[in-house]
Order: sequence, then C-alpha cells, then structure tokens
Amino acid sequence: MCSMTVDINSLDIRYYPDPCLRARTKEVDPGDPGVMAVAERMIELMFQSNGAGLAAPQVGIPWRLFVTRDPEHEDDGLIWMNPIITPLESEPVGDIEGCLSLPEIEVEMVRPSRVRISAMETDGTRFEVESEILARVWQHEMDHLEGVLIIDRMTTMERIKNRKLLKALKKSYT
Ligand SMILES: [Zn+2]
Repeated sequence: MCSMTVDINSLDIRYYPDPCLRARTKEVDPGDPGVMAVAERMIELMFQSNGAGLAAPQVGIPWRLFVTRDPEHEDDGLIWMNPIITPLESEPVGDIEGCLSLPEIEVEMVRPSRVRISAMETDGTRFEVESEILARVWQHEMDHLEGVLIIDRMTTMERIKNRKLLKALKKSYT
C-alpha cells in the first residue's frame, strides 16, 4: 500500500508492477523532520542498490521527493524536495537507462541534455541549479513523481527484448 504515514525501518525498494509506482504524488513539507528522515533512508537504499537516484514512490511513499548522488562528493547524496524541472535549450540526447524498480531492464531514453531544477530548502525557500551531469537522472526521477516509468516509452524492439523480464516481474509481484 502507498502510505502517507511512514515507518522508516520498513522502507524498501518497490518493484514493478507495485501500484505505488503509479500513485499520484503530493508536495512535501520541507521543514518536517520526518520527511528528512525518509530522504536520508532513501539515500542509504540508493547506495546499497548501486543506483544513481531514487524517488519516493519507489519506496512506497507518494511524495514529491527524490534523491540523487552528489557528483562532487561520491559518498554523499542530494535531496530534492518539491522539484520543478525546466528544459534548457540543448540537443536532446539518447542514452540507455535502467531503474531500481525494474531490475535488468534497459530502455533508451531521449532527453534534453541540459535542464534547470528548482527545489526546496528545509526552510521552504526555493533554489535553482543547472546541470548536465545530473540532467538525465533528474528527469528520470521526475518521471517517477508523475507515475511514469521507462517501460512506458519502449520501442517495439525494446518491448520484445524485455518481454520475459517484465513477465517475470509481474509473476513475482505479490
Ligand atoms: Zn527509476
């Protein structure tokens, strides 16, 4: 179930077709220590699973929150609360993406190579950052907040190639 009340210790990565991955998400209160605790746990899970980012719906929480690695400090994570993404003038670039909620599945995604993100500090003020390094992961995680998964954008070839993996995921979901 996708719960608004959270037991930090029970948080774990949800796999497709968990309905939380498609749930409607809600803005977080950036000053709520409970939100920060969830974000810190998500950073741990991201590192444990060797991921580049992790969005709240992927741990069963319908919040507008995701975490990413910090490109400047390899052991650190960054927390993005109530993010808004604006594509900047740039050449769209295709690259293979995976997803912690879709183990082993790979899909080529074409995305703007430069974007700006606006997110909230704990005091509720907004800050803005531009990045090429994080552009792809920001957009991937942002998709999660809209209930969008990489499998939604597969080509016919990718659909055929990933059919068995998807079927196995559906079968193992209980
Ligand atoms: Zn993902």
